[in-house]
Amino acid sequence: MADRRLNNLLKKVKAQGVAMRALNDAQLQAETPKLKAQLKNGKTLEQILPEAYAAICEADRRVLGKYPYDVQIYGAIAMDLGALAEMNTGEGKTLTATMPLYLNALTGKSTILVTANEYLAYRDAEEMRPVFAFMGLDQRAGVSQTPGEFLTNDQKRENYKADILYTTHSVLAFDYLLNNLVMRAEDRFLRDFYFIIIDEADSVLLDGAQMPLVISGAPRVQSNLYQMADFFVSTLKADLDYETEDKAVWLTERGVKYAERFFGIRGFYAREHFELNRHVTLALRAHVLFERQNDYMVSDQDEIVLLDNSTGRSLPGMKLRGGEHQALEQKEHVPLTQEQRSVASITYQNLFLMFPKMCGMSGTIADARKELRTVYHKKVVVVPPHKKLQRIDQKDQYFVTAEEQYQAALEETLRHHRTGQPVLIVTATIQDTQIFSRMLVRESVPHSVLNADNAYWEAEIIAAAGMRGAVTVSTGMAGRGTDIKLEPGVQALGGLAVIGVGRMENVRLERQARGRAGRQGDPGSSQFFVSLEDEIVTTMNGEKVEAYIDGSRRISPGRLKRLIDGAQKTMEEQGVSTREQSVRYDEILRRQREILYAARDRLLDKGDIDPRMMRGIIRDNLTAFVKAHPRLTPHELSRYVLDNLTYELDPAVIQIDGHGRKDQQRLLKRMEAYAARLYEQKAAGFSKADQLQAYTRQCLLNALDDGWVEEVDYLQQLQYAITTRGTAQRNPIFEYSREAYQSFEAMKATMKQNIARNFFLGDPQIGDDGKMTIIFP
Ligand code: ADP
Ligand code: MG
Repeated sequence: MADRRLNNLLKKVKAQGVAMRALNDAQLQAETPKLKAQLKNGKTLEQILPEAYAAICEADRRVLGKYPYDVQIYGAIAMDLGALAEMNTGEGKTLTATMPLYLNALTGKSTILVTANEYLAYRDAEEMRPVFAFMGLDQRAGVSQTPGEFLTNDQKRENYKADILYTTHSVLAFDYLLNNLVMRAEDRFLRDFYFIIIDEADSVLLDGAQMPLVISGAPRVQSNLYQMADFFVSTLKADLDYETEDKAVWLTERGVKYAERFFGIRGFYAREHFELNRHVTLALRAHVLFERQNDYMVSDQDEIVLLDNSTGRSLPGMKLRGGEHQALEQKEHVPLTQEQRSVASITYQNLFLMFPKMCGMSGTIADARKELRTVYHKKVVVVPPHKKLQRIDQKDQYFVTAEEQYQAALEETLRHHRTGQPVLIVTATIQDTQIFSRMLVRESVPHSVLNADNAYWEAEIIAAAGMRGAVTVSTGMAGRGTDIKLEPGVQALGGLAVIGVGRMENVRLERQARGRAGRQGDPGSSQFFVSLEDEIVTTMNGEKVEAYIDGSRRISPGRLKRLIDGAQKTMEEQGVSTREQSVRYDEILRRQREILYAARDRLLDKGDIDPRMMRGIIRDNLTAFVKAHPRLTPHELSRYVLDNLTYELDPAVIQIDGHGRKDQQRLLKRMEAYAARLYEQKAAGFSKADQLQAYTRQCLLNALDDGWVEEVDYLQQLQYAITTRGTAQRNPIFEYSREAYQSFEAMKATMKQNIARNFFLGDPQIGDDGKMTIIFP
């Protein structure tokens, strides 16, 4: 994106701004219908951009008392042209978003802003609503004020109908999946996607996009394999029976042999042992990769509660997928919860790629340039700050042990604190907030700790972190999106001092932490204290660093730095590759999802279902059945009829003359005629044609959904199984795509069978209100 193009547009916006200022309120408000009309008459968005931006800027001034700075207009234009804009914390991204949102909403198509959490979505929606209302546009929040409260489909429909919607990425993803699970056309609530701005874009597109979003439903039959697998795994020897590397763990050859002896089977990886294999993998992961108090904790109610390691939040209600949760429960010997099936799933990457126009903004996104270009085909535009950055970023201090590191960080904290300067300590993990907090208590320094699970409460505390004498200890992401304003007088003390404790998972998180200070040209400082005992260093380097830490070996400053910084680099690369993997796996699922959702849409929307289609399906089923049974017995045939066509078998049709080709064809003809007769009988049971239609449609939908749920669930498990099979010769993605293709074909055949079975054996009951309920076989 050429700067020239951005600067030219910026100039035009400013030129129009003069004219806008001269308008009275009514004239300004008349801009909305006027611009809409221009679009109708064939003008492009870029052509009306200057006038539209100037209008909304003027509205921002009149309604909110803030006129966007040039850099904000510049960032807004960059987003409108499809870029990801990097704008520092405190630069005013919320106000910036009003411009592209206003312009794109003029098209009447769906215009959405998503951000990292419900608190931010609700807050920003409330704050900006008056401006849009002033300009005659309906803006809403897609989340409720009470966190976790569910909206009804009707409420959702109203929200998505609004000109502009503020919501979160996860609510949007859930809604997308749910919208494709409705049983009637009129229950859908989404509009076609058009324009989206992603606020806190790195958090949403990168940190939050490691795992696909999954909707769970119908419980799976509980298996007793968890216990067996757990016991088996507890007898394994590390490094001999299994190996682990980079958050993956697998059985060695010796381990596999042992498993085969242990369970008395051959071919541990054979298809028929898929379930056993899966459970062993799950148990192994639970034992080796999940650490109590770090990745999860066991609550007083004997429940496994997951912890978000980067924010330290507990994630109540969140469950690991694919049986991993049950494996953890088994490991901790708490009662197993029901294992839920995955009903629908999508990655955020694929969700956002469905928007014809997508852009985003964040304080720290330029570091991920390359990944964002390959995955999202997006460019990053770095927007200069409104006022020059005054913050002084001190060089990182490197230590061997955590003890020295903490002591130094504490001394630095006290040094700032003594002068009354506010200090924000940002740690890499939750445990570290607690350790640091205890050290502060020992020094009798009053402070607040932020590692809670409540974004509302966090925002309040973090907002106060700029008060004179305030000391706040927080995890990396806690309170994100909330601006720390300095109390008057604090500027003279040097502004906010950010003390980073521990190397973080990636550079972005550290920049985010530093960015808490020095907003809008404020003074401020930042400094990181890191050591070999930082979590990512020990996870990445393991025993390599032990001798240095216990003092039995000396380390040079150069090597110290390389080890610590290298760990972060490896971690970052790992994150990139996990996301790449996740995208590639979902790519395969995406194709299937598109076919299925399109078929579903046709079913919901299209008028009548052609009876010929049903006849075709019935014929296909019968042909497949006859083909699959070259030596068909009368017993098999009656079984088939009873299972698929009718409960009242006509003995006359159960007649097998022989097994030649001719005999088969004759049998097929006879069965087809029989099925046609049964079809007519069933149809005659409906007094009205539209009832038959409704019945048929439900039979189709039910079979489609059942088949698809199975498929999604299977693929989810397959992914797990395949990625952990990890031996050198295999190409997991290739294997996955081959098996996924086969299971999709199998799913289609099963669906056809179930459609016919539903139709013939389903029991429609029509109530007094004319509504039909169907009991499916
Ligand atoms: P960001 O999301 O970029 O971190 P916010 O949108 O939270 O920043 O804005 C930070 C603060 O700056 C808010 O208090 C906001 O009202 C203020 N602000 C933003 N833009 C302007 C402006 N053009 N004029 C005056 N104040 C502004
Ligand atoms: Mg913000």
